[in-house]
Amino acid sequence: MARIAFIGLGAMGAPMAASLAAAGEAVMGFDRLDGAGAAAAALGVPVAAAAEEAATQAEVVVTMLQTGEQVLDVWRTLLPVAAKGALFVDCSTIDLESARSAHLIARASQAMAIDAPVSGGVVGARGRSLTFMCGAEADAYARAKPLLETMGARIFHCGGPGLGQAAKLCNNLMLGVTMIATAEAFGLASRIGLQPEALFEVAAVSSGQSWSLTSYCPVPGPVPSAPANRDYRPGFATRLMLKDLRLAEAAAGKAGAVTPLCAAAAQLYALYEAQGGGANDFSGVYEMIAGAHGE
Ligand code: NAD
Repeated sequence: MARIAFIGLGAMGAPMAASLAAAGEAVMGFDRLDGAGAAAAALGVPVAAAAEEAATQAEVVVTMLQTGEQVLDVWRTLLPVAAKGALFVDCSTIDLESARSAHLIARASQAMAIDAPVSGGVVGARGRSLTFMCGAEADAYARAKPLLETMGARIFHCGGPGLGQAAKLCNNLMLGVTMIATAEAFGLASRIGLQPEALFEVAAVSSGQSWSLTSYCPVPGPVPSAPANRDYRPGFATRLMLKDLRLAEAAAGKAGAVTPLCAAAAQLYALYEAQGGGANDFSGVYEMIAGAHGE
């Protein structure tokens, strides 16, 4: 049984660390917010008073933080105190440059590293059904995989260092854009006399089909489990979608990739956030888009 430090016990980290604890792993968590630590403790996660306390001689260090800067800070602090040859696993969604830098600083300390961002949200974290997108050398991936299987259902090795983050950003670019396209189509339909159920029935089995339509339809009615049927309570908050699109835009800018729809989608989610929709599910952008058609 490996000793595991889990740093970042927020909405995602707490239930992920709890999955490890429930599986009998020797996990010790830490969060700089006392409230987050207390919430994790209530889920059965032993919590330390400092990150160094959790990570001293740990064989695995998992981070689930908000930004690349936080991840680099925590890795720089904990690389010297973790066990020799420890495995560092970052599950946060962060910028590509920080993800690549994290691998480099781990290598410089003779540690192993993997970027393993997730999709599936809080529900997936609680239900151990997360999807992990991994970027790592083959040996680090092989070492991390059993651990990731304790917290998730689908584990993909997308390539070398940083390419898990790359997969996450590209996937969420598609998600953010298809949701706006779906919202626009339903907004138009409502103006030209087409019932949402009729459009859904056709598009769900035709070339307009997407996950945004069939799993997360932004109009109340057609998909009972979608956030549209619970006043757009998340789900996946607009502010997080906006964060991911901005990370994709930054990656595109640096790589010289052309992503005009990513930029346009980010603008629309930013507008929705400015109108008070930041904490709503991102499919709530439908309300803004449909309402904007000439009223
Ligand atoms: P969160 O804000 O709830 O949790 C992050 C935690 O990190 C906070 O509790 C914060 O106090 C802690 N933290 C920050 N810096 C720290 C430090 N130096 N030391 C110790 N603790 C520190 O965020 P979340 O919703 O759990 O998301 C975590 C990551 O997962 C983000 O990168 C997010 O983009 C990504 N993500 C979130 C979801 C989701 O649905 N919430 C889905 C997929 C991916």
